[in-house]
Amino acid sequence: MKNKKILELLIGSNNTGKVREIRDLLPQNIKIYTTNDFKLSSPKETGKTFSQNSLIKARYFSKKTGKICIADDSGLEIDILKKQPGIFSARWGGKKNNFNVAIKKVYKKLNYADPNWKNKKIKARFICSITIYGPSFKTKQSIGKVEGKISNFKKGKNGFGYDPIFIPDGKKITFGEMRPKIKYKIDHRSKAFKKIKKFF
Ligand code: IMP
Repeated sequence: MKNKKILELLIGSNNTGKVREIRDLLPQNIKIYTTNDFKLSSPKETGKTFSQNSLIKARYFSKKTGKICIADDSGLEIDILKKQPGIFSARWGGKKNNFNVAIKKVYKKLNYADPNWKNKKIKARFICSITIYGPSFKTKQSIGKVEGKISNFKKGKNGFGYDPIFIPDGKKITFGEMRPKIKYKIDHRSKAFKKIKKFF
């Protein structure tokens, strides 16, 4: 089955920061629905990988609504923390998805893993897996990554999640300090997006 161009699409996420970023990456002529339009809560992320979890979300929201759904599962891997928080990135923010709590946890774990970490390059990367799933549509998946390091301090108010503590390679500022347009040019989500752009 050859997939036709997608004309309407449900963004399968209840994370407002993420919905905003996915919306910004999609062409303007597509009719977009959000989980809010259907009052849907998110499924349990029971997968062991980013790809499994993005498929779980896209399939769940598509089946609930009958729409083609795009879902992403993303997160931050920190090498010295054995790739944590990884697929648990959102869960480190607790029930209320509080990113300040999650960032505090990162710093606490770094201090524990190596008290001298601030004098070293703490390698990290954001990963994003995207799945498009829907009726009469052959499921498509893609992955994007951006390499970087953890900042010694929280910096910047843009973006969401771990943006204030992530400095991408080749830049001196965090994603939190970057204008969204600049972040979208280099980040994990836009790289994953580029690979599936042809369906829009
Ligand atoms: P999930 O994919 O909904 O399970 O959540 C992914 C989590 O990873 C988010 O809640 C953020 O904590 C983090 N994350 C993913 N992408 C980004 C990003 O672009 N910037 C900052 N944090 C991100």
